[in-house]
Amino acid sequence: MAVAGPEGCADLGALVEYIGDCRRCALAETRTRLVFGSGDPHARLMFVGEAPGKHEDLTGEPFVGAAGRFLDELLGSIGLARDQVFIANMVKCRPPGNRDPEPAEIETCSPFLARQIELVDPVVIAPLGRFAAHYILKTTAPITSIRGRLYRVDGRRVVPVFHPAAALYDGSKRGVLEDDFRRLRAVLDRVENDEDSAAARPAQLVLFDGDPS
Ligand code: URA
Repeated sequence: MAVAGPEGCADLGALVEYIGDCRRCALAETRTRLVFGSGDPHARLMFVGEAPGKHEDLTGEPFVGAAGRFLDELLGSIGLARDQVFIANMVKCRPPGNRDPEPAEIETCSPFLARQIELVDPVVIAPLGRFAAHYILKTTAPITSIRGRLYRVDGRRVVPVFHPAAALYDGSKRGVLEDDFRRLRAVLDRVENDEDSAAARPAQLVLFDGDPS
């Protein structure tokens, strides 16, 4: 039975099928492959980039070029591998010549990202760069003023960081990204510790529930 929209897709596989050989915007005409996203379908940490570049367009995988190698390094620095997180992009097809995605392209494609977020259901989202940060946080504030800070959106923690590609052009951003990834690790650890202690609480309550003798 055909589903009504992305929100009718019960899992990521159904969403891939729903998106299909997408022709909903003009990027379809110049792309080689649509880049859906990849990683742990139930990851606790999800990254959202901007749009596929040349290498992603050729392989169908997100962040496999130079920026992706730096992202892998950053992940490794906080003890994570790619298959422990989920990585997606704001738009799923490469804008020609790596130009910025246009508002109409973001509008057409963002319902797919919105459903990916619901289905992966991460506790922490890290938007990579301004486009993703603006979409997730519904702001137009400069990335320099919002990066590395902790926000809450729809019950999730959000920590926007610079796009890894920005550090390839401006070496001073490398250390900032490394610091922000340490912040991400701390936020994840805190959530996990809170959940552990919350899980322990009912058992303690039961101990004192009823006759204390
Ligand atoms: N830059 C992005 O924003 N996404 C990719 O997948 C690759 C480079």
